Amino acid sequence: MSLRESEIKSEPACTTISLGNYRFSDPPDPSKWADCVHCGMCLESCPTYEQTGQEQHSPRGRVHLMKSVGEGKLEITEDLIDPIFMCLDCRACTTACPADVDVGGLIEEVRGQIRQAIPLTGWKAFVNDFFLKGVFPHPSRLHLLGSLLKLYQKSGLKTIARKTKLLRIMPEHLVEMEAILPEVGMPVRKKYKHMNVIKAKGETKHTVALLTGCVMDVMFSDINEATIRVLTRNGNDVIIPQNQTCCGALHVHAGDRETGRKLAKQNIEAFQHADRVIVNAAGCGCMLKEYPELFRDDPEWREKAEQFSQKVEDISKYLHDTGYEKPKAELNMRITYHDACHLAHGQGIRQEPRAILSSIPGVEMVPMPNADRCCGSAGIYNLTHPEMANDILESKMQNVPEDVELISMGNPGCMLQMAMGVLKYGRNQKVVHTVQLLDWAYQKEDGKEVRV
Ligand code: SF4
Ligand code: SF4
Repeated sequence: MSLRESEIKSEPACTTISLGNYRFSDPPDPSKWADCVHCGMCLESCPTYEQTGQEQHSPRGRVHLMKSVGEGKLEITEDLIDPIFMCLDCRACTTACPADVDVGGLIEEVRGQIRQAIPLTGWKAFVNDFFLKGVFPHPSRLHLLGSLLKLYQKSGLKTIARKTKLLRIMPEHLVEMEAILPEVGMPVRKKYKHMNVIKAKGETKHTVALLTGCVMDVMFSDINEATIRVLTRNGNDVIIPQNQTCCGALHVHAGDRETGRKLAKQNIEAFQHADRVIVNAAGCGCMLKEYPELFRDDPEWREKAEQFSQKVEDISKYLHDTGYEKPKAELNMRITYHDACHLAHGQGIRQEPRAILSSIPGVEMVPMPNADRCCGSAGIYNLTHPEMANDILESKMQNVPEDVELISMGNPGCMLQMAMGVLKYGRNQKVVHTVQLLDWAYQKEDGKEVRV
């Protein structure tokens, strides 16, 4: 039975009320910091510690600060904002930590407390509310924004804005972002609105539901299309539930756990009849798998969230594990692979995408040193912390091999950030999603012209 919207909106009380100087409901889970022995083995893995050399911007320093508030030794003040919000939530520290301390999870929980104790004000509050609450959870508004962007790109306005230097009124990092925005296409959610199911080519082996994503379906609808083609080619009937919504990752990362819970409930309901939920954006996949964390104090929804999260699978792992058809056409390219943090550190998926790429005839894989180092995208971190994001991107680009034609990855945020790196540092690689390459190989095999 479908849940009425009013029921979804009525927040169940989070029964854990406070902890030390965390005075709001849903405080951080102290068992997460309990295992930290301050050994420092996480320090080198942390991009912000690498850039600043400061303990407060290291995983160990952050855990110490967060624990101190929980023990009542520190208050939540403005001084806490920088160390906690400068974190990329990249999870590299958890991979490096011998005790598996979930620093990223703690950071998200503590941000929830900080945003209640010290709410955003002024234009930051306006931008936050407008995009995170007013646009991303509403597909029709997002599609309208996409149409306006498409008009800007196609009508000549873009050329005029660039030629007349009109864009200079915007902050530099937004101008850079404008330069690498992909061409907006038709969202697959809209395109397949009237189809209950997109049928498999040939015999149906599985039925899967696709998370189209919010920004993903507007900015990268071509990747969603490629995902559908690859899934149907491999014997999957594909369903696109129309009542699905934004995964809530950006909200949870920003400390708005209440909106995160509302969106999680809507998605759990939307996908309740699906056996498998396929995701092609690492950040969204990681969030969906972590929905149970949002309902620690709500047994009913926690159980539903646990059942739901077990159905979630990244596209690369799903194809790998279900035995995808190896392409026969050659692509003849040198490719390097960047591990998106929320795929490698967040979901432990490293080998599957590489195996898919290596299985394409003619592809030569060139390893990238420190491939699982964050690129600085981290959701909207490159907008909220442009200077740090740029410094991290510069380090990342130094590791991209010179002699490759493509940089492949499995997360749209990383794709935008790496495309910015290519433009900014005078490189000439094209940035692609792993599933796009498999799709191109299939298309070439079918005699279609491939535009790489
Ligand atoms: S988070 Fe882990 S690696 Fe870092 S100091 Fe604590 S125990 Fe050591
Ligand atoms: S999540 Fe990333 S940025 Fe944050 S403390 Fe860990 S390694 Fe550093």
